[in-house]
Amino acid sequence: MNTPIIFVSLGPGDPELITMKGFKALQQADIIFCPATSTSTGKQTSRSANILQALSIEAFHIHPFLLPMNKDRSQAQQAYDTVYTTAVESQRQGKKVVIVAEGDAGFYSSVHYIYDKLIAANISVEQIAGIPAFIASGAMAGMHIVSQEEKLMVLPGNTTTTELENYLEKGVVIVIMKLSQCKEAVHQCIALHPDYAYHYFENVGTEKEYYAQNNKELIEKVYPYFSLMIIRK
Ligand code: SAH
Repeated sequence: MNTPIIFVSLGPGDPELITMKGFKALQQADIIFCPATSTSTGKQTSRSANILQALSIEAFHIHPFLLPMNKDRSQAQQAYDTVYTTAVESQRQGKKVVIVAEGDAGFYSSVHYIYDKLIAANISVEQIAGIPAFIASGAMAGMHIVSQEEKLMVLPGNTTTTELENYLEKGVVIVIMKLSQCKEAVHQCIALHPDYAYHYFENVGTEKEYYAQNNKELIEKVYPYFSLMIIRK
């Protein structure tokens, strides 16, 4: 059997927040596929590549692949399909292949599409756990995200004010991922319930890391892609 194609979770941005197991897999890899995006000025950026570089992984092992930032999934799928084909080919040649993901590779991670496709084709794969951004955010703010009998609900960005209210009213702690997609719902929730605790996190684990709790600021703020919120009653 070929060596498995390994999905390595890189953690939220701080290069030290990777597991030993993930780090070893990176060090042993011949080829590492890593997602990149293109800015409005046409420059390629890749948070994953920055993490790899900080971990002293040699550049010639790193193969960035461009992901479109628009919501058209077919373009992203195309990029993933190309990675899939090259990864399978490299594995056949006996190379050790790694595909990286930010945070945890099994938590709102679109790269998992490739994993599912490999499984469907009976190709050996492995997934290495990592620290998701909301866990790193809680640690950064010294929070006890949930305690005792408390419940936690993780919501993607397509939530509504009513949905938020319903959970919060019941005492459920909420994590909102992809916060930029539900700016209005969150602004409205803050306006209606200013007494709840809103913890806002941006670019956690990078030099642009930012944490805020000020309602007035959060109600006016434009939330960038790398932001999330933890809310409790
Ligand atoms: N697999 C990732 C989640 C990817 S979904 C994980 O395990 O955390 C992308 C969303 O994750 C972003 O829209 C944002 O809400 C959140 N996110 C990822 N990295 C972040 C960071 N460093 N700081 C704040 N939010 C982050």
